[in-house]
Amino acid sequence: IKKIGVLTSGGDAPGMNAAIRAIVRTCTYHHVECIGIFRGFQGLVEGDFEPFGPRDVNYIINKGGTILKTARSETFKTAEGRKKAYENLKKEAVDALIVIGGDGSFTGAMILSKEFDIPVMGIPGTIDNDIRGTSHTIGFDTALNTVIDAVDKIRDTASSHKRLFFVEVMGRDAGHIALNAGIGAGAEEILIPEENLGMDRLLESLKKSKKSGKSSSIVLVAEGEKLGKNVFELGEYVEQNLPEYEVRVSVLGHMQRGGAPSCFDRVLASRLSVKAVETLLEGKKNYMVGLINDKVELTPLEQAVKGHSPIDMELLRVSDIISI
Ligand code: ATP
Repeated sequence: IKKIGVLTSGGDAPGMNAAIRAIVRTCTYHHVECIGIFRGFQGLVEGDFEPFGPRDVNYIINKGGTILKTARSETFKTAEGRKKAYENLKKEAVDALIVIGGDGSFTGAMILSKEFDIPVMGIPGTIDNDIRGTSHTIGFDTALNTVIDAVDKIRDTASSHKRLFFVEVMGRDAGHIALNAGIGAGAEEILIPEENLGMDRLLESLKKSKKSGKSSSIVLVAEGEKLGKNVFELGEYVEQNLPEYEVRVSVLGHMQRGGAPSCFDRVLASRLSVKAVETLLEGKKNYMVGLINDKVELTPLEQAVKGHSPIDMELLRVSDIISI
């Protein structure tokens, strides 16, 4: 392998730049060329490429977002689009591809690899932490810190007015952000799609919480939560059924995707990226690099895209115990 292409795809996540930087520099270290592909698979289809050297990635380890930009590409989902993508790779003499993104991006990379025999590697980059084969995805830790900062601030106003806040956080179909940030920010209840608490138990729990003398309550709601109501309807329902509460709703939104990556995410991105490049140079292909028991490990991409990573049920128990 003489030239490796790198792209970021799907939702952006803090720490993607740290990964790009580490990939470029690992290539240089091993005397391999590195080429940046802009706007994910769309840039691959359009040939939006630029060679990257180690000094092109100065001062980006601390920056959120991705300097390569990201996109969702419908064209790449067509056989014709992927053929164009492959032709562009050939034209630039790119021998292998590293894709930083989520499971959708890995699926696209795998299909390209099968059709045209181009080695690919996946690096998990998403705040949702919903990928199999890694305990942490790049961006998850930063997003958690962003969420607990925001919830701490909401707590200040909630306790001043003795209010109940429903705070919706991101996570797609997964409850990892809600569960971990919920524990970290001391939420009274955490609603995640993986465990259906049920409306009755929620009302019961909030009643108990009020009786126990709490001056404010925070309920963290995962965006993919499936109690059959959106977060505003949920707030209204609770206010109607528990008149003792004054309810407010806050949707944190895209702020969760931004900001300087945490040290954990920078280190994680650096470790995974070195491994991704070196795995390709060893002649292996179609793996995702991930963190398993604090070690960088490989998982075949085919397995990594099979469903989402499970929730740690022990965390739910911890939350239940300490929110008494
Ligand atoms: P996130 O979880 O942050 O949204 P993701 O990688 O799962 O990240 P997707 O939007 O699912 O995000 O996928 C990103 C891109 O990957 C798509 O826009 C498309 O270009 C490509 N892709 C996804 N699925 C396929 C597929 N089945 N075939 C070809 N390309 C695909």
